Amino acid sequence: MMAHSGDFFDQHASASSSFRQISPTHLRSFLDISPDALLLVNQSGTIVMLNEQTAALFGYAEKELFGAPLEILLPPRIREAYLRHQQQYFAAPYARSMGAGLELYGQRKNGAEFPVDVSLRPLLLDGELHILGAIRDVTAQRVTERNYAVQAQRLSLLTDLMNLAADAILMSDPMSRIIFWNHGAERLYGWSEQEALGRISHTLLETRYPQSRAVTGTILEQQGQWEGELTHTCHDGRKVLVESRQALIRDNQGEPLAILEVNRDITERHTREQMERAYCEETVGRETLFHQILDSLPCVVFLVAGTDARMLFANRAAYQVWGVPWMFQQPLGEFFTTNGITLLNAQGRPLSVEHYATLRAIRTGEPVRDFQTMILPDERMLPIQVYAEPFSPPQSAGIPASEPVVLVTYEDVTVLKEAEKLKDEFVGIAAHELRTPLTVLSGYVDILLRQTSREGTSPLSERQQKAVTAIKEATLRLSTLTGDLLDVTRLQAGRLVLKCCSTNIVPLVRRVASYCQQTTEKHRIEVSTARERAIVIVDESRLEQILTNLIDNAIKYSPQGGPVLISIEEDLLHRQIQIKVQDRGIGIPQHQHGRIFGRFMRAENALAWEISGTGLGLYLCSELVELMGGHIWFDSQEGVGSTFFVSFPMSEGSEEWP
Ligand code: ADP
Repeated sequence: MMAHSGDFFDQHASASSSFRQISPTHLRSFLDISPDALLLVNQSGTIVMLNEQTAALFGYAEKELFGAPLEILLPPRIREAYLRHQQQYFAAPYARSMGAGLELYGQRKNGAEFPVDVSLRPLLLDGELHILGAIRDVTAQRVTERNYAVQAQRLSLLTDLMNLAADAILMSDPMSRIIFWNHGAERLYGWSEQEALGRISHTLLETRYPQSRAVTGTILEQQGQWEGELTHTCHDGRKVLVESRQALIRDNQGEPLAILEVNRDITERHTREQMERAYCEETVGRETLFHQILDSLPCVVFLVAGTDARMLFANRAAYQVWGVPWMFQQPLGEFFTTNGITLLNAQGRPLSVEHYATLRAIRTGEPVRDFQTMILPDERMLPIQVYAEPFSPPQSAGIPASEPVVLVTYEDVTVLKEAEKLKDEFVGIAAHELRTPLTVLSGYVDILLRQTSREGTSPLSERQQKAVTAIKEATLRLSTLTGDLLDVTRLQAGRLVLKCCSTNIVPLVRRVASYCQQTTEKHRIEVSTARERAIVIVDESRLEQILTNLIDNAIKYSPQGGPVLISIEEDLLHRQIQIKVQDRGIGIPQHQHGRIFGRFMRAENALAWEISGTGLGLYLCSELVELMGGHIWFDSQEGVGSTFFVSFPMSEGSEEWP
């Protein structure tokens, strides 16, 4: 009737020695009232009795099974095995109960196979050995068992996965007893799974909650999950900060079953974040301090980038001076032009944008220092000292390395200018006051020299003669100095008046050259010109003063003597007349070229050679030449010599050159 994939009758069960005797009538009644499917088989394997539950279970009518061989209730694949074991069983029958752990199968009339469990009982009917079998369909039970197996497999997979996770994963029951503890938890906290299981999680880990355990518990209870940072104490006493995600797992009835906790160690991240925050705060603090310092400076400070000097930063003083805001990234030139801000050079002439100290420093990559006057939007005039310094910002400032950056300061030098004006006034007065006694002195010296050289007068002794000549030279030097000082103060005050007219400079140059030649024997002064007529519009006496100064310098700064070559040339292309004074003297050190036309400027090699001077001559020359509409410049090499050039626009008469 029934079979299992291996043994049909359990060979290992203990055999029963005595069998019950039962009457067929009793058995029939018993079968009829039994809720289970029962059948009776004789020794040849024929069904001799069955109840309707059995017929229904296998899908037959009762009478179809009556007298049929038991194997028709078995799947064909196991019938052969059944027949083998049937004989053995009848040889030593025993009682076998349900659930003996065997996998048995039956087959319905329609061919469908289904799992069954069977209990057997040998008994004597009419003195003959029979077997009573009870059959139960265990399809539903097998399905449940299979589901359990699948779930168990999933659970073990899940455990493996949880053990693979880097995070600490633990589960505790509603009493907070740990029921799961993955490898990550072992690694982080230092307790093995065996040590942790059954312990109260928050006691074991000395959990510190953001608020309290009760608050966390309530949120878990109400929302089913909780997230936050916890502090745990590890097995070795180390404190760790974890980012914890917790979920409350409920059973089908909604009762709390377990709390799942996934804890990620963020101790290091937290320390790093704290350090970064501190660093950030410090940087912001420093930046604020830096801005405060720059804002409390009385001078204008700004930073520009790019060839068009776009604004990166400007301090408060900048805004206060201009009275209008300079927009970030707006070019300096555009800002000045749109707001009517003008810059004048030291001579009071307006500067074009490309001549601004800032733009010059950007172009050359060299620092530029300049005195300028700024005309502000409200038409106030502000004398300023400009410092434009090329600047290398740190990479982190986000300025492309290819962009030139210049740091500029405008220092208000009104007070300095005032002081300078006062000083100029004083120098002017002093020079003026010196002139009268000097005139008297030099007048009397001249008279003395003239009278004592006449015949009939007693001549001066050699010592006296020397002394009077020294007085004459000193008074001459003094009157040149006072003259220069007076010119400087007049220029500063804009009071120097020129009397310009068309002048043929050729005889003028020759005159000055021959006068200068009388002062030296060590030098040979030569004038070369292709034309005898070169007309320019100049103040004749001032041009004489300029040339005297240049030739005197050529003589003075060639202490070992040598040629002084003067030439007058025409530049028809630019319609210029050019005078050139060339010497082979000590030259001017390259690094001082830019400042040589400044007031009181003296080159260091002139001082080293102990050549006396005031540093006023070239300043006066450049101012006078510029005032007369000309240009002055020079070429010089230290130890080789210098050439000074002066040029004036050609006047009409010059074209009449033969
Ligand atoms: P100084 O009275 O000192 O000669 P200047 O204004 O005429 O003043 O000249 C300024 C400086 O320029 C001089 O001190 C000197 O260092 C330098 N200098 C001028 N001319 C020459 C030159 N021909 N050769 C070398 N140095 C010169």
